[in-house]
Amino acid sequence: MGKQRSQADEQVADLLQTAKSSLGLSVAFLSRLDGTSQFLEVVESSVPFLFKEGATQRQETSFCQAILDGKLPPVIPDVKAFPVAMALPAATLPRIRSYVSVPVVLSDGSLYGTFCAAGLTSDKGLTKRDKSLMDVLAHAAAVIIEPGVVAASRRAEIESRLQPIIDAEGPAVVLQPIVDLATGTRVGAEALSRFPAEWGKAPDVCFAEAHSIGVGHLLELLAIERAAAFLEQVSGYVALNISPDTLLTAEAAELLDRLPLERVLLELSEHAPVEDYAALKAALEPARARGMRLAIDDVGAGFSSLRHIVLTSPEVIKLDRSIVAGVSADPVFRTLVRSLVEFGHGCDAVVVAEGIETRADAETLLELGVDHGQGWYYGRPGGPEHLSECWPITGSPASAGTAPSQDAGVAGSRDAEADEQLAPTYGNS
Ligand code: C2E
Ligand code: CA
Ligand code: CA
Repeated sequence: MGKQRSQADEQVADLLQTAKSSLGLSVAFLSRLDGTSQFLEVVESSVPFLFKEGATQRQETSFCQAILDGKLPPVIPDVKAFPVAMALPAATLPRIRSYVSVPVVLSDGSLYGTFCAAGLTSDKGLTKRDKSLMDVLAHAAAVIIEPGVVAASRRAEIESRLQPIIDAEGPAVVLQPIVDLATGTRVGAEALSRFPAEWGKAPDVCFAEAHSIGVGHLLELLAIERAAAFLEQVSGYVALNISPDTLLTAEAAELLDRLPLERVLLELSEHAPVEDYAALKAALEPARARGMRLAIDDVGAGFSSLRHIVLTSPEVIKLDRSIVAGVSADPVFRTLVRSLVEFGHGCDAVVVAEGIETRADAETLLELGVDHGQGWYYGRPGGPEHLSECWPITGSPASAGTAPSQDAGVAGSRDAEADEQLAPTYGNS
C-alpha cells in the first residue's frame, strides 16, 4: 500500500489517466528524480503488480535518464528496436516494450522529474503527436505539484537552520530592564531570544517559522528554560514570553511546574487569536495559584488584547511599542495611552510601556499614569551583567550624575554594545 494521495497527487493521477487512455498504454506515472534515484510518485496502472506507487529505482539505469541524456528518443514505439534500451534493466523487469517520457520542469527551470507512459507490448502507433500531448500534461502536472515542492524545500531550509539551535537547547537569551517610571528603579527584566545574526530575522519571525514546521512549542519552551536560568543571577522578576498555543501544551505545564513562579511574569502574546479562553484560563490556573503573574503583551497593537484582558484578568498589561514610541509628540497616542491606563488600573493591573526610546516619552508616560517602562532609553537587551542601575526621570540634581545623557541614542548605544557582546545574534531593529 502506498501513502495516502494528497489532493495534488489526485489531480496528477487524473492527468496520468488521460495520458494512459489517450496513448492506449498500460501505465502512466509521474517520477521525481533526485540525481541518484527515480521515485514513482504517482502511478496509474492497469498492471499494478508491476508498477507500484512509492517504488524507487536507480536513476542512472532508467529509461527516463537515457531519454534525458539523448541516448534514446522520447517516444519509443518498440523498445526492441533500441539496443541501448534493451541493455537497461527496465527492458526485462518489467518487460517494457513501448515508452514515452517527457521532463517535468518547474517554473524556475529546474528539473523535477518525468511524466511517462509505458506499455508491455510494442505500439507502432506512438508518434510525435503523442509526445506533444505528454508535454502539455507534464506542464500541467508541474503547475499542480510546484506549491508542494516549494513548501517542502522551504520546510527543509527552516529545519536545517533551526535544528542546530534545538540541538544546542534553544536560542541565546538576553534580558532587557523594566523600570519603575517614578523612581527609575529596575523592577524586572524581559527575556528575549536571539538567533544567529546572519539569518537577518527578528525573533518573532524565527518563532513563526518554527511553528510553521511544528517545532514552535519546543523552541518557545527551550527559550523559557534558558531564560528561567537567569532567575538565580538577577534580582526582580523575569518576564517570559509564551504564545497561547504553547501555553496549552502538557510540556508547558510541566515546565512551569518546575519554576520558582513568584518571580515569574508570563507575557502572553497574541499574534494568533485565542480560540478557547476556558482552556487558556485552566492552563494558567495552577501556575497563578503558585504566585505566577500574568501579563498581556502588545496591548494597543490591534488584535484582540482587550478581550484577552477582560477574560484572563492579568496582573500586568504591556502597552505596545507602536503607541509608546513618540507618545510625547502625538496627542492621539496620548489619549489612547491615557484610556488604556484607566482601563488597566480599573482592572487592577500594573501598566507597563515598552519601546521607550526618549526621555520625553518617558516623562509623558509617567504623567499619563503608566507604572513601569522598558525601552532603549533605559537599556537595550543584553547579558544579565548589563542589567545595571537604571535612573529616575524626575531627576533630582543628586541623581543627575548617574543618569545617562538625555539623548536616547547615547543611552541606547551604550547598551547596544551589551547586545552585541552576545554576537552572533540578531540585533534590534
Ligand atoms: P515583544 O515581546 O513585544 O518584545 C519587545 C520587543 O521590543 C523586543 O524585540 C525588544 O528588543 C524591542 N524593544 C524594546 N525596547 C525597544 C525600544 O526602545 N525601541 C525599539 N525599537 N525596540 C525595542 P525583539 O527582541 O526583536 O523581539 C521581537 C518579538 O519576538 C517579541 O516582541 C516577542 O513577540 C518575540 N520573542 C522574542 N523572544 C521570544 C521568546 O523567547 N519567546 C517567544 N515566544 N517570543 C519571543
Ligand atoms: Ca514580550
Ligand atoms: Ca510587546
